[in-house]
Amino acid sequence: MHRVFCSPLRYVQGEGVTTRLAAEMAVIGLAGPVLVVAGRSATKELAAVWGAAMSAAGWHHQVRVFGGECTAAEIDAISAEARTLGAKALVGAGGGKCLDAARGAAAAVGMPFVSCPTVASTDAPTSALSVVYTAAGTAEAYRIHGRNPDLVLVDSGVIVRAPVRYLVAGMGDALSTWYEGRAAAAAGRPNMRGGGTTQGALALARACLDTVLADGEEAVRAARERRVTPAVERIIEANTLLSGLGFESAGLGAAHAVHNGLTVLPGTPAALHGEKVAFGTLVQLVLDGTPAEEFATLVRFCRAVGLPVTLAELGLPAVTAADIDRIAVRATQPGETIHNLPRPVTPAEVAAAIREADARAAGIALRA
Ligand SMILES: [Zn+2]
Repeated sequence: MHRVFCSPLRYVQGEGVTTRLAAEMAVIGLAGPVLVVAGRSATKELAAVWGAAMSAAGWHHQVRVFGGECTAAEIDAISAEARTLGAKALVGAGGGKCLDAARGAAAAVGMPFVSCPTVASTDAPTSALSVVYTAAGTAEAYRIHGRNPDLVLVDSGVIVRAPVRYLVAGMGDALSTWYEGRAAAAAGRPNMRGGGTTQGALALARACLDTVLADGEEAVRAARERRVTPAVERIIEANTLLSGLGFESAGLGAAHAVHNGLTVLPGTPAALHGEKVAFGTLVQLVLDGTPAEEFATLVRFCRAVGLPVTLAELGLPAVTAADIDRIAVRATQPGETIHNLPRPVTPAEVAAAIREADARAAGIALRA
């Protein structure tokens, strides 16, 4: 299989870099008019900064407040507004759904896309993927666009002002990247962009795990005090850039399939994406036959930063055997990334691995 590696054209991260938005766009040849699609809190916090940056560049811009759900209708409405404005670039600023909607609209109208995440809760900001929901917020479809964002601009000062739980959830998403990418590569399965894994993608995935384990606890302490420290910068990079390039160009495996399985039960919607992925990672470690000490290291790390490691901690205290079977059936449905593992896995095996991960994690205390 031929190898494929995809990434944004430019990635900029640092405290206060929002002031550089137009300048960084100009570096890669982008220009106004610009449509900014932004979440409510991002608009409140940053609209004045965008205004100053855009007028300094002499660009007309308009801010559209995101409707709250990434639906096909919202994507169409953003596309129409971009056309009416005569926009030459689309900026998304906010959480995952806002970025997904803006990214989807940019792809629909063939416009450059700038991704400005205001939380580091998932590895989606650098990717070419939009998750599209129905208006009811339930069913979902993946849209994989041809292009990654032209620019990803991450203001670390904005990230540490968001609730710390988001940064922690991002570590949960990032914990899975190495294990999933390694499995897909070992199985010779294609990555998310339709090619084989490169050594580069695997190296980034490994650096992602090492960074999260080394700097996670210190970053959480600093983020609680709203301080941008070197550890915070490294974790923002791990959650966003390393994990994003890793998952997309190395591949996904069991952890995200178990995440998708968990969504069939009422209750887990309260858990964030990365919190469910953290538990899914533990299930993958069981399926992979990972040594007990490595499993325990991950569980202790999760406990130290506040990631859930059992079904009860995920908000499912009264889960039944039938519930676990439903999770396992959904996790192994045709086309799921769990089939990227080097060997075939059955729903029964996954159900057993969920039980084992849950029981083993429950027995591991924070400190050895
Ligand atoms: Zn994820």
